[in-house]
Amino acid sequence: MSLEFRCRDVGVACQKVTRAESSDELVAAVAAHAKEKHGVELNSTLIDYAVTKVRSTGD
Ligand SMILES: [Zn+2]
Repeated sequence: MSLEFRCRDVGVACQKVTRAESSDELVAAVAAHAKEKHGVELNSTLIDYAVTKVRSTGD
């Protein structure tokens, strides 16, 4: 099982799908992507919101 986060699920016009094996890893990867591609520093509020949009995939 892995975790998946899609920028478009939080209303960002971006096709990026970030995947990771743990939520810590996923948050780190999403934070790095948000900063690099969207110029957004994720604070704890944004991270909490993003976590609600994380999907589990069964692969
Ligand atoms: Zn993005």
